[in-house]
Amino acid sequence: MKWTSHRVVAFAAVAAGTHGDWLAAAFAAAGSVLPDWLEFRLLPTASLRAKFHRTWTHWLLGYVLAWWALGQVEVPGQWAMAVEIIRWVIVGCGAHVLADAPCGSVAAVLPWRRMRIYPRLFTVGSASEYVVVAAVVGLCTFTAFC
Ligand SMILES: [Zn+2]
Repeated sequence: MKWTSHRVVAFAAVAAGTHGDWLAAAFAAAGSVLPDWLEFRLLPTASLRAKFHRTWTHWLLGYVLAWWALGQVEVPGQWAMAVEIIRWVIVGCGAHVLADAPCGSVAAVLPWRRMRIYPRLFTVGSASEYVVVAAVVGLCTFTAFC
């Protein structure tokens, strides 16, 4: 999925899931490109990216565990807001992996093993990607505000 699509889907899903918490949605949208950003920074060559594409940086269970663990941390005062921001960024990372899954395999459970969790719905950048994005945004809008 293209980065713009990731941002739009994460923003819509979190805005709908929180019934209009636009700030949380904005942090999730920012985090929704982090898995690919990390992959490009950590894997500088095409051969490394081919070997480890959508593995450690696209580890869905890892993002779920990180989100849960940060929710268990007791932090004082102003640091609580920082932890909440980080948790919404992690939600965006999870949304990224879920949005990548319909166009390929991702490391859902084990970080070194890609697997399919949905049937293939589109290829990256195709017209069908934008149809799926529009459908997700429409569904999120409908469920949150109708
Ligand atoms: Zn990705």
